[in-house]
Amino acid sequence: MQTEMNGASPRPLKPVSKWSKFLSTRIRSRNILFGLLAGLLLLSFNVAPVWRALWRWHVLAIGQFGTIKDEKGAAYSAWRWVAARKIRIHALPGIEPAMVDEALNGVRAMVREIGLDLEVSAEPLPEAVAEACRRSLVKQQVNGRLEDCLSFDGLAARLAALHASQPCATVLLVDYPIAECEWAHGMASFNQALVLLEKGTLSFHLAKHETGHLLGYNWHDSLPLFVLGYPWEDWPWSRDTLMMLNGHNCDLSPRARDALSGFWTGLERKLDQRFWK
Ligand SMILES: [Zn+2]
Repeated sequence: MQTEMNGASPRPLKPVSKWSKFLSTRIRSRNILFGLLAGLLLLSFNVAPVWRALWRWHVLAIGQFGTIKDEKGAAYSAWRWVAARKIRIHALPGIEPAMVDEALNGVRAMVREIGLDLEVSAEPLPEAVAEACRRSLVKQQVNGRLEDCLSFDGLAARLAALHASQPCATVLLVDYPIAECEWAHGMASFNQALVLLEKGTLSFHLAKHETGHLLGYNWHDSLPLFVLGYPWEDWPWSRDTLMMLNGHNCDLSPRARDALSGFWTGLERKLDQRFWK
């Protein structure tokens, strides 16, 4: 017989009947099934007013407000870069000034289109950022060759201390494949306050697209498959809007604009701070 701890008097445990075991397993399976169906439905269809409300209340911004680990393993809320309202662009050595201008224009265009009052500037590369990059290089196979790749997560962790003393989001123009996804042209995270843009594919379009992710829209326009209430967006496989994964169009779709607008309205409520121009 099992006994309870802490000196309490022993009490016989009630045997679990086969029926209640069956019922609890069934309820659990039904909950999982219901969750899967709800998730599938959310990824397939939505309607514009619900879509906007889900962004305004950050329901679709899952994971955006979690902490990240800094280099020493301590938790850090990198997403709070928003309070400083600053985005700084730096280029690693070997990136031409014209490319920096291209990136600056793309980032500014997105900030302006949403109507946010954020300061965007291109600045010389601080030694601390250069050092963090050097230490975030990892050797990886790229197209059958061992190459230096830049770890996005490693760099975000190493920049955490810098971001804590000088809060901002960092946009970095680099000449390395990204270790976590070496085929990616760029990578961005609101939650990690970081954007990487790769030299070989750097363009106004890429900078504007990744800034959409930096500003909190961590989706692509392919999902949900359909959001009813917007003008016909074409079939998901034929869409070409800024926030499609392989798009070429520089225009933000109404769904992405509403998502970003709702996300920042939610941030104003969350932080009691004004972000609109
Ligand atoms: Zn993307």
